[in-house]
Amino acid sequence: MSGKVTNEHGQRPQRKRKAGPKPRHVPLRTCIACGESRPKRELIRIVRLPDGHVVLDPTGKKSGRGAYLCAKRSCWEPALRKGKLEHEFGVTLTPEDRAELEAYVETLPVEETPAPPKTSKKPRATRTQASGDATP
Ligand SMILES: [Zn+2]
Repeated sequence: MSGKVTNEHGQRPQRKRKAGPKPRHVPLRTCIACGESRPKRELIRIVRLPDGHVVLDPTGKKSGRGAYLCAKRSCWEPALRKGKLEHEFGVTLTPEDRAELEAYVETLPVEETPAPPKTSKKPRATRTQASGDATP
């Protein structure tokens, strides 16, 4: 017997490193538009001030009733235009406040619409096999 089989895939023993993320308590907040819970820092806080004005609270330090929205237009637009925010706060936005928030929406990146799944099949690299394996 002289048939020596060489494996083209040099098998390398892979060692798995144990690098688990440290469990840390992350305060979660819920976006009023999509209802998703996210870490507080990923959301934008809007606050209703004691005087009834509704403003952005980028620092999260303003006192008042807060609401959170994802930093996405798809969450801000319904919140502003469909009155979700007003409903949340139980107020009517003043034109100035609304304009300010609208201006903020303009700064948000437009989300890419989910691309349709690519169905074009890439030509697979044909592998030459010596053995008589009937592959289609
Ligand atoms: Zn959202």
